[in-house]
Amino acid sequence: MNLYLATKNLGKVREINSMFAGTGIDFVSAGTIMGNVAEDGDTYHKNAFAKAMAVYEQNTTAVVAEDSGLEVDALDGAPGVFSARFASNEDGVNSSDEDNINALLDFMQDTPEPSERTARYVSVFCLMMGGKSLFFEGEIAGTIAAEPMGTSGFGYDPVFIPSGYDKTFAELGDQIKNKISHRAMAVIKLKDYLLSIDDNNKK
Ligand code: IMP
Repeated sequence: MNLYLATKNLGKVREINSMFAGTGIDFVSAGTIMGNVAEDGDTYHKNAFAKAMAVYEQNTTAVVAEDSGLEVDALDGAPGVFSARFASNEDGVNSSDEDNINALLDFMQDTPEPSERTARYVSVFCLMMGGKSLFFEGEIAGTIAAEPMGTSGFGYDPVFIPSGYDKTFAELGDQIKNKISHRAMAVIKLKDYLLSIDDNNKK
């Protein structure tokens, strides 16, 4: 089964496809047909829905979209839905991963204690098919490192240390990240659902 993934973020396409490896389900980036979607919702659910709808409207039969973010307790949950454009001065324009990380570390200068640098990544998938939309959520807790470490992954991975580990996601690498991440937790639920309807279609 081939499904559209409503994202221009190739890091996400790579991660999600590796999580579906061996299932017969392949995601194709819908980046070229979705246009510019205003991700101005105040929840991940609204943004995931808007991205899925932008592709679904192009007469596609099924599409999956994901919205995600990093929530830092010392910053009252910021950057949250603004994670991709945390350091940007322009409305709706994403900032680079490096600028976002630097902005985050600047904001956290007054919170040096690791025990107070708690955070979580949140992921929400929206599956749109047959005129219906369904949501699948996942989370992972962790802390924000004092400085960037590691080169793997994307976004805030060089400063995110998942709970139970002493290295950042960017140091731990894709194999570990893709087993435990927020996206992996949501994908388990999405995968179960897609495989169950695929099985039913074969009966
Ligand atoms: P989205 O494409 O609007 O969902 O953007 C989510 C943003 O949240 C990304 O651009 C990253 O800044 C951040 N983010 C979400 N998931 C991850 C992750 O797995 N690693 C690092 N950063 C992430």
